[in-house]
Amino acid sequence: MPEPDRAVLARRRQIVAALRAIVPGEAVIDHADGLRPYESDGLTAYRQPPMVVVLPDTTAQVAAVLRWCHAQGVKVVPRGAGTSLSGGALPLADGVLLGMAKFNRVLDIHYGDRVAVVQPGVTNLAVTRAVEEAGFYYAPDPSSQIACSIGGNVAENSGGVHCLKYGLTTNNVLGVEIVMMDGQVLRLGGRQLDPAGLDLLGVLVGSEGLLAVITEVTVRILPRPQAARALLIGFPGVESAGQCVADIISAGIIPAGMEMMDRLAIHAAEAFVHAGYPLDVEALLIVELDGPLAECDPLIDEVERIAHRNGAMSCRSSGSEAERLRFWAGRKAAFPAMGRLAPDYYCMDGTIPRRRLPEVLRRMAQLSAEHGLGVANVFHAGDGNLHPLILYDANVPGQLERAEQFGADILRLCVEVGGVLTGEHGVGVEKRDLMPVMFSEVDLAHQQRVKCAFDPQLLLNPGKVFPTLHRCAELGRMHIHAGQLPFPDLPRF
Ligand SMILES: Cc1cc2nc3c(=O)[nH]c(=O)nc-3n(C[C@H](O)[C@H](O)[C@H](O)COP(=O)(O)OP(=O)(O)OC[C@H]3O[C@@H](n4cnc5c(N)ncnc54)[C@H](O)[C@@H]3O)c2cc1C
Repeated sequence: MPEPDRAVLARRRQIVAALRAIVPGEAVIDHADGLRPYESDGLTAYRQPPMVVVLPDTTAQVAAVLRWCHAQGVKVVPRGAGTSLSGGALPLADGVLLGMAKFNRVLDIHYGDRVAVVQPGVTNLAVTRAVEEAGFYYAPDPSSQIACSIGGNVAENSGGVHCLKYGLTTNNVLGVEIVMMDGQVLRLGGRQLDPAGLDLLGVLVGSEGLLAVITEVTVRILPRPQAARALLIGFPGVESAGQCVADIISAGIIPAGMEMMDRLAIHAAEAFVHAGYPLDVEALLIVELDGPLAECDPLIDEVERIAHRNGAMSCRSSGSEAERLRFWAGRKAAFPAMGRLAPDYYCMDGTIPRRRLPEVLRRMAQLSAEHGLGVANVFHAGDGNLHPLILYDANVPGQLERAEQFGADILRLCVEVGGVLTGEHGVGVEKRDLMPVMFSEVDLAHQQRVKCAFDPQLLLNPGKVFPTLHRCAELGRMHIHAGQLPFPDLPRF
């Protein structure tokens, strides 16, 4: 590696000294060994050690760090637990990595208001753990819930298997405290459902660390349903499983979760956790119904009838809580189970209209043959959110590049059939250059205007989400020609 020049080293020393003055003790890391754990997130194909890591533990320290970086024109990348699969927390060689891991306290729980107020570094699962004795839980449940942080969940608008019925993070967050890049602290939303004013909280959720640093989160907690039962349904093909999903929804049933796995994923997960999955089927549906006992049992019967009408080869309902959890254990371990099939996997995340599922899976199989790489499919079938897992070996020259091209083709296919580039993993660096497949120049310019309203110097997490980041002053002068507008014939005011 070339030696950095003297000016760069002097600048680095100045930044480290300023950060140490704000956050004393061991909380500023600038030696190579200490920086290494931060060099990538869940998208491990990309690596870049940060210039320096700072780990504040109060809002005042976050504000002081950001204020100083703002005044000095220093870039900042916020980081939660580093499990992002889209490279959202990938550091910058010339930027400060702002780790939020020390913000790990549950601040307040109010069962009457059904809210919990937590710091952003608290893990998703820890929120449920904090309220479960009182019979409550936090509904969004990413498979990474044991590790990922609530701050990261808010920044990525994360989902999970139970989001079909209970909504994504955006539907379960009521308020946040944030620090703007210039150090100003503000609160968006609160404890109530519908706060007054513009919905800035809605803008912030899913903003991938580009608008502000989240320092506190108020989430909705829900009482545990009286009963929850899961069905394991095997099908001879993905078409019949897909039709069963459509028929369940058309019957007016909203399961708590409805997940599909294809043959490759079923076999890998079964070998890994022994969940009791049938191995003679081509597609497996896990359908969970919850609610009052009097509602749950008849719905289970109704779903079984729909499954049999669609040619189900096997149908088993959980007879105990332990069995229900075992059914889910296979699905939740599907990603790590890929390690049994290939040294590396690349997890994609696109969303399609449910009815296009069989066609998309067929075309994905063709793409798999064209790129010469295997693909296993695990997805949130109820909301059309696909997670194709592309299998490759990073040690074989060219395979990573082929996996990335295959992934890009899958996402183009999602958009072509009327879907979107991401379901829940965010854009980050991974899908940044595909944004023009989905958004016009006009769309992107307007999205960047929002970024400019929060962070006009473009210092917060630059290089993510936007394929090109225009200087904010330039953007203000950009003209949008009538022909570029989505509805050029409409009268203008
Ligand atoms: C095995 C595995 C399974 C997964 N399953 C799911 C799943 O089922 N559903 C799902 O939605 N995701 C899933 N993910 C992806 C990932 O766990 C989520 O995106 C998660 O929300 C990231 O949280 P984090 O704390 O790790 O954030 P990080 O990875 O640290 O950061 C993610 C983004 O959030 C920003 N950020 C983090 N904290 C803050 C903050 N305090 N203020 C402002 N910005 C911040 C970062 O800048 C970055 O852009 C999975 C990941 C893995 C590795």
